[in-house]
Amino acid sequence: MSFMAPMLRLYNTLSGAKEAFAPIDPAQVRMYACGPTVYDAAHIGNARPIIVFDLLFRLLRHLYGPAHVTYARNVTDVDDKINARAAERGISIRELTDGTLAQFHRDIRDLGVLGPEDVNDPGAPPRFIEPRATDHIAEMRTMIDALVAGGHAYVAEGHVLFDVPAMPEYGRLSKRPLDEMEAGARVEVAPYKRSPLDFVLWKPSKPGEPSWPSPAGIAEPGRPGWHIECSAMSAKHLGKTFDIHAGGIDLIFPHHENEVAQSRCCFGTPVMANVWLHNGFLQVEGEKMSKSLGNFITIRDVLNDWPGEVVRLTMLKTHYRQPIDWTLRGLEESSRVLDRWYNAAGDEPAAETAPGTVVEALCDDLNTPAAINALHALTDDGSTLRAGANLFGLLARTRSAREQDQVAASGVDVPAVEALIAERKAARAAKDWAASDRARDALAAMGVSVKDNKDGTSTWTVAG
Ligand code: AMP
Ligand code: ZN
Repeated sequence: MSFMAPMLRLYNTLSGAKEAFAPIDPAQVRMYACGPTVYDAAHIGNARPIIVFDLLFRLLRHLYGPAHVTYARNVTDVDDKINARAAERGISIRELTDGTLAQFHRDIRDLGVLGPEDVNDPGAPPRFIEPRATDHIAEMRTMIDALVAGGHAYVAEGHVLFDVPAMPEYGRLSKRPLDEMEAGARVEVAPYKRSPLDFVLWKPSKPGEPSWPSPAGIAEPGRPGWHIECSAMSAKHLGKTFDIHAGGIDLIFPHHENEVAQSRCCFGTPVMANVWLHNGFLQVEGEKMSKSLGNFITIRDVLNDWPGEVVRLTMLKTHYRQPIDWTLRGLEESSRVLDRWYNAAGDEPAAETAPGTVVEALCDDLNTPAAINALHALTDDGSTLRAGANLFGLLARTRSAREQDQVAASGVDVPAVEALIAERKAARAAKDWAASDRARDALAAMGVSVKDNKDGTSTWTVAG
């Protein structure tokens, strides 16, 4: 473990400034990220927080040591969209969420995202936790009871509502003063709310929806509101106050603001998490991604056309707080960069220590564009380049292994390729240029390009 590592600085939404990161307990750094709602295949925008905060997890493990970082990324498996989708498909909610979650795991594994199987050691406490909302209903109920008992929430018509005006610091994270929010609140408000700003902690389940015994003495069964799950799961797995809480920029309000309100009022703490990180949004070819515009792309759609590493590098080329414009050109460019890096790294193993230039750039609020420039500067030192790229979750394979994977993925008929190469060689030896060109064209048609080496041998690769 190296406490002498370069200082990590992170832009904190809570303070509105870039700050030196000082963990509560350097022997156990704790981070939480809001994960997917598993009702449908994840889209490429959803991949952004997953990849960005995976990089942060890798960096923290590098700085503090793998045994000293705990990452919880939840799964939201209770939600209106889930209920609607399960009903539509005539399957149970659990069947829908299990299937969608399994697909999500396959998607992000191909993006080089670390999971429990990569970091958890059976003999030690887990370092990667993926809590599911439906496994934490009892913890949510306990929190809701405490909020009601403490005068922070009230029961009305089978609902439990958080009493927003009773929390003077509500709005601190999203920088929305309470009085302004009150003035701007919508006119049409559920009649059981004391203030239009109050939000749901618990609500009655409609017929056919999943339900659990209710808190706060409510006789009818019900289900949790959206925000309480993250307060309950983060407290259970990371503690009442922890270091880093992350998610997409759209989650600042209301989701994260409400998480803060619930956790702080329940536990009487001054903060929920010390540092709040938010990634910018992704748009596609200059437009907001939406089903109606026909530019809605799932992670799997992209992975069908591009290797996961290309997708990952494309995501990390833009600084995480900036918006990303997801383009074909960007993917093509990343593909060329990876070809260059793989050629430079060859089959050399990674150097033992990651290059300081790359680590320093990442320590500056995950400055991935600068870190990528630092990697470009290492192309004459393959093993250091590989060590730096590994920290990014890239260049996990040797060049030879990658080439084999490319051949396998392309489905080319290897004996046919070798036969054509031999034919071309014989034609060249006989100075039969027409026959040599025919063999080359046939290879090109299979997506194979041949390179003639100085020593008279030739090597071949497939595109992609
Ligand atoms: P959702 O499934 O909508 O709850 O989103 C899961 C995560 O993906 C959240 O952290 C969102 O902020 C994030 N997210 C959703 N859409 C985008 C997008 N277009 N660009 C970047 N992040 C997104
Ligand atoms: Zn959350």
